[in-house]
Amino acid sequence: MNKMNLYNETKFIMKKYNIFANKKLGQNFLINEDVVDTIINSAEITKEDLIIEIGPGLGTLTSKLVEKAGKVICIELDKRMINILNDRFSLYNNIEIINDDVLKVDIGNLIKKEKENNNINNAKIVANLPYYITTPIIMKLLEDELDIESITIMIQKEVAQRICAEPGSDLSGAITYGIHYYTNPNSIIEVDKNSFIPEPEVQSEVIRLDILKEKYINVKNPNYMFKIIKVAFMQRRKTLVNALINGKVIDNKEKLEDILEKLNIDKNIRGEKLTLEQFAQLSDKLCN
Ligand code: SAM
Repeated sequence: MNKMNLYNETKFIMKKYNIFANKKLGQNFLINEDVVDTIINSAEITKEDLIIEIGPGLGTLTSKLVEKAGKVICIELDKRMINILNDRFSLYNNIEIINDDVLKVDIGNLIKKEKENNNINNAKIVANLPYYITTPIIMKLLEDELDIESITIMIQKEVAQRICAEPGSDLSGAITYGIHYYTNPNSIIEVDKNSFIPEPEVQSEVIRLDILKEKYINVKNPNYMFKIIKVAFMQRRKTLVNALINGKVIDNKEKLEDILEKLNIDKNIRGEKLTLEQFAQLSDKLCN
C-alpha cells in the first residue's frame, strides 16, 4: 500500500467512526507506509515474540504486528479506539486489547503470564508514542526492569537526539544517562511532520533501544545515582558541587570536593560534563 492509500484508509476509518484526533492524548496518526514498514522491520519481529504496542490508535501498526508476531497486546487509553480495534481485529486470535493508561498497567505481569502460557520466547515494545508522556513511558519501561529485548518507538526528534547522544556530550540530558545505563540506543530514521494526520508540531524520529543483558556500569544504588543526575541537570549551568549542595544531596561542600579529588574529577566541573561511569563512582561514594 502506498502513502496515498494509507492516508485514504486512515481518513476512511476516522470518518466511519466519527473520530476527531484528540490533541491532548497526543493523537497523530501515521499515514506513511514506508515509515510503518521501517518501524516493523527494525523491530525484527518473529512468531516467538510477544509485542506490546502502546497507543495503537486506529490500528495502523497493529495490522502489521498481528501478522508478524506470536501475540500482540495493545494498551490504549482512548475508549473510542478500543471499539475500532475490536472491530478491525475480530478475526485474529493473537491479539489482546487493554483499555487503560499505560503508566498504570503492570506490563511485567503481562509478559510473565504470556511466557508461562504461550510459545512466547521474547517480549518487545513497539509504538508510535503519545508525545506528551514520552519520557515517563520510557523511564517506566526501563526502571521496571521488564523482561524485554528491545523498544522500537517513534518519538519527538529532539528527545531522540538526547536519548542517542553520548552521556557528557552537548546534546545529553538527564535522560541520556538513564538510557545508556539500561540500553544500547540507536537512531533508525527521521520522520517528517507530513507523515501524520493531523501533523504534529515537531519533527519525529524512530529509535530502537536494545536492553542490555549485562550492564556496562556497576553502581550500588541506581536510584540514588539517578537522583544525583537529576539534581545536577536541574541546574546544569552551575558547577556540580553547587548543584548538589543547592539540591541538598549533600550539605558538606569540603567533603564533596574531597570525594571529587579522590575520583580525579575537577571540583569546578559541571554535572553535564560527567560520564555515566563518573556519576556511578560519585554515587557509590556518596551513599556510603
Ligand atoms: N499507533 C497509532 C499510529 O501510529 O497511527 C497512534 C499513535 S498516536 C501518536 C498515540 C496513541 O497513544 C493515541 O492513540 C492515544 O490515544 C494513545 N495514548 C495517549 N495516552 C495514552 C496513555 N496514557 N496510555 C495508553 N495510550 C495512550
